[in-house]
Amino acid sequence: MTKISLGIIGGGQLGSLLCAAGKNININTVVISDDEDSPAKHFADHFIYSKYDNEENLTKFTSMVDKITYEFENIPYDVLSKLNKVKKVDPNPEVNKIVQHRYSEKNFLIKKNIKTTDFEKIVNESDIKKNKNLLPGILKTSTLGYDGKGQYKLNNLEDLDNHKINFDREFVLEKLVNLEKEISVVITRFSKDNYEIYEPIENLHEEQILKYSTIPAKINLSHFKKSQEWAKLISEELQYVGTLCVEFFIDKDQNLYVNEIAPRVHNSGHLTINAYNISQFENHIRAVCGLEKIKLEKICNAKMINIIGDEINNYRNKKYTEKEFFFDYLKKEIKPKRKMGHLTIIENK
Ligand code: ADP
Ligand code: MG
Repeated sequence: MTKISLGIIGGGQLGSLLCAAGKNININTVVISDDEDSPAKHFADHFIYSKYDNEENLTKFTSMVDKITYEFENIPYDVLSKLNKVKKVDPNPEVNKIVQHRYSEKNFLIKKNIKTTDFEKIVNESDIKKNKNLLPGILKTSTLGYDGKGQYKLNNLEDLDNHKINFDREFVLEKLVNLEKEISVVITRFSKDNYEIYEPIENLHEEQILKYSTIPAKINLSHFKKSQEWAKLISEELQYVGTLCVEFFIDKDQNLYVNEIAPRVHNSGHLTINAYNISQFENHIRAVCGLEKIKLEKICNAKMINIIGDEINNYRNKKYTEKEFFFDYLKKEIKPKRKMGHLTIIENK
């Protein structure tokens, strides 16, 4: 049988780990990225450096692949839907349209009776004044934010003077949740009511960047069940194909909220590489490429540590035990707050 060729838009660490998973199951990977130094160029079978609106390169890309997927959600909808007419794109571009915009994402959740943080759309300063009941809160750009980028903490209206906020973008103002903990649920949907779901993962952020992910999450049974139930509902409602991650908040009064949906493989799911028979990356490829679904089995408990900025120097020449798995994303430049690699430590169930 000829090898299936999977096109991946985006060349960061998620793209790299997808390529590595593809290699294990004999899938050919073609990455297109607008960053010449993309880490994924070390892992992909073919790498195309191109802006995402370069017609000629997109044509070359589509001619080399059978299926298309993406590793980040900020690709313009028009680009994805154009590609989808030539080669099937999964998750469907319509999913991205809803999820890449915080306001439409939250409205989608509310319509499905899923609890989310209190929020309002903000286009100027007076909108914030009108919604001061949401303070203390976090003002987030509606699009293009990640790792806390494009976010401003507002304790009160006076704080507006401390941040020089540029209102030529749209924002969402979200009430601050008194956090007890954060969890995420990774799910891979193959088709209607046909999915594999991982157990909830407990996440700890430092400076709004994920630092530690652990299974099992220390949560009660009701949060365990509810978070998985909502993740299933979300993926069914979106008619999603591939791996998706839902991020949740649990507050001090034990309320569960959906924070956001990531229509892709997720940093908190890296530990699935070592803790399960099939990782979130392999499952994503299986679903998108229409391969057989294999029953998920947990092998062990695990903890993942994100290696940020120059911390990577301490990890590169270290010796590891057989329970430690170090992943170097091979990024060309070390920058503060940049995710440079991760370490997963496994332990018996
Ligand atoms: P990003 O797209 O950068 O991941 P998030 O909305 O997930 O943005 O915010 C990043 C982190 O900031 C969250 O994981 C959480 O730790 C903190 N945070 C965000 N919104 C709130 C909120 N409304 N209340 C409390 N903490 C928040
Ligand atoms: Mg987040």
